[in-house]
Amino acid sequence: MSRISWNQYFMSQSHLLAMRSTCTRLAVGATIVRDKRIIAGGYNGSIAGGVHCSDEGCYVIDNHCVRTIHAEMNALLQCAKFGVPTDGAEIYVTHFPCLQCCKALIQAGIKTVYYAVDYKNHPYAIELFQQANVKVEHVNLENTTFENKNKEKEAFVFELLDKLEKSQKSDEELQRLKKEAKALFS
Ligand SMILES: [Zn+2]
Ligand SMILES: [Zn+2]
Repeated sequence: MSRISWNQYFMSQSHLLAMRSTCTRLAVGATIVRDKRIIAGGYNGSIAGGVHCSDEGCYVIDNHCVRTIHAEMNALLQCAKFGVPTDGAEIYVTHFPCLQCCKALIQAGIKTVYYAVDYKNHPYAIELFQQANVKVEHVNLENTTFENKNKEKEAFVFELLDKLEKSQKSDEELQRLKKEAKALFS
């Protein structure tokens, strides 16, 4: 069994959070981590109790939806609300932070920003991160799916390969397929 890396684990968490987003324009998730522990999470959505873009449509001014609080802000505000220090923490975001979030992250003492998708990466945000000595790293989210039928799939594939082997002489191609299947399910 292969172990999921910390980067993939926290980035997956941010992608899960993004699935809670209520804004129809873009779904973003953010996870704040300290000492490999999740201390807060957020997604872009309305203020608590407010109407949702997904119900009422976005409130767009100057090509921006002004109804939502960004995922990074929501995660930071959760820390403020519950009194959790963010100094020296790291954040995993699905999308490169906007300029406002960039400034908030720096000011909150976030030391590393991991992001999965480039999104209108603002040159000034990049410059500010550099100035503030905040490490910015791109993390590709690998295809991690929750597999609950792995054993059944493995049995099916090998049954199929065995049948093939019996119906025709074992050739190189078949041996290669068997090898690949074994590697896939190991
Ligand atoms: Zn919206
Ligand atoms: Zn933002």
